[in-house]
Amino acid sequence: MKNEDILALKELLATPKKIAIIPHKSPDGDAMGSTLALYHFLQKENHHATVISPNDFPNFLAWLPGSENVLIFETNKEISTQTILDAEIVFTLDFNALHRTGEMEHVLNKVTVPMVMIDHHQKPDGYAIYTYSDTAFGSTCEMVYNFITFLGKNELIDKTIATCIYTGITTDSGSFRFPSTTSTTHRIVADLIDIGINNSEIHNLLFDNNSYNRLQLLGRALQNMKVFPELKTSYISLSQKELDEFHYEKGDTEGVVNYGLTIKGIEFAAIFIEHRDENIIKISFRSQGDFDVNQFAREHFNGGGHINAAGGKSYDSLENTIKKFEKIISKKTH
Ligand code: 5GP
Ligand code: MN
Repeated sequence: MKNEDILALKELLATPKKIAIIPHKSPDGDAMGSTLALYHFLQKENHHATVISPNDFPNFLAWLPGSENVLIFETNKEISTQTILDAEIVFTLDFNALHRTGEMEHVLNKVTVPMVMIDHHQKPDGYAIYTYSDTAFGSTCEMVYNFITFLGKNELIDKTIATCIYTGITTDSGSFRFPSTTSTTHRIVADLIDIGINNSEIHNLLFDNNSYNRLQLLGRALQNMKVFPELKTSYISLSQKELDEFHYEKGDTEGVVNYGLTIKGIEFAAIFIEHRDENIIKISFRSQGDFDVNQFAREHFNGGGHINAAGGKSYDSLENTIKKFEKIISKKTH
């Protein structure tokens, strides 16, 4: 982050402010972890902070400290809108363009007070006066740790804040396995453990909380997997009917796309999930190595993300979307 921005933010935050903190729509561990870490930090500094999520967060994150105070825009439009428009500073975390907040975009477009972006996605939009954006980081949570340190307040990071930060670092790094995991990431985590987080319990809360239905749905997803060894590609699909059959709940398909990459020789994996309520096919892409799925998602499926993890959507039927995908990959050269 630029030194002059840090100084300006230090000054802005020197007196108590009303602050709105926004994660992206369908927030993941990093979006929730980073917004709640910042929330606890700002509250500790006597600000009046509120996390406002565009829609509900998955159940497997509901244990995060402070999640009970998160406002959900989709089901609480009036209060959420008022809180955003009353804020004196708006932080947007873990996304790079306002449309990533869905309908909330229209409210955020009306904001006239300073906005701060903390994010690690490519090609950040220019809506924020203060932008801390760097794709070198594996998680926004790691950047929030740095941000608090830049403000000279590292000693305020307590067990609660550290727990939130650890959550996002863990989930966005695939439990410390993705290439963006650096020695610095591990040094920060070492510090979080020294502060007193229960890292083993956090893993347990994040990953060992499957329902029977979720595992059955995973079983179906794996059976649906198609593999194209010569293209080093695999994909999974789940129709709305299948989601219904296994009583799908938000978060149930989280991480399922990664199974495609666990097959030996596969470097590009996708998952297509039909969401009838929104009339879209939600797509996730993952790759290993230099195949840029961010570029692929942008070019073909109205999306974006990172080099090795991206997402997008299609307004066509599940069948046609998959046909389109197969056609594109058949022309792909590795
Ligand atoms: P996921 O597949 O887990 O939903 O998302 C993977 C990565 O791609 C995340 O960093 C997420 O923020 C980004 N991403 C997912 N969907 C979209 C999308 O529709 N548009 C853009 N620009 N990025 C996305
Ligand atoms: Mn993230």
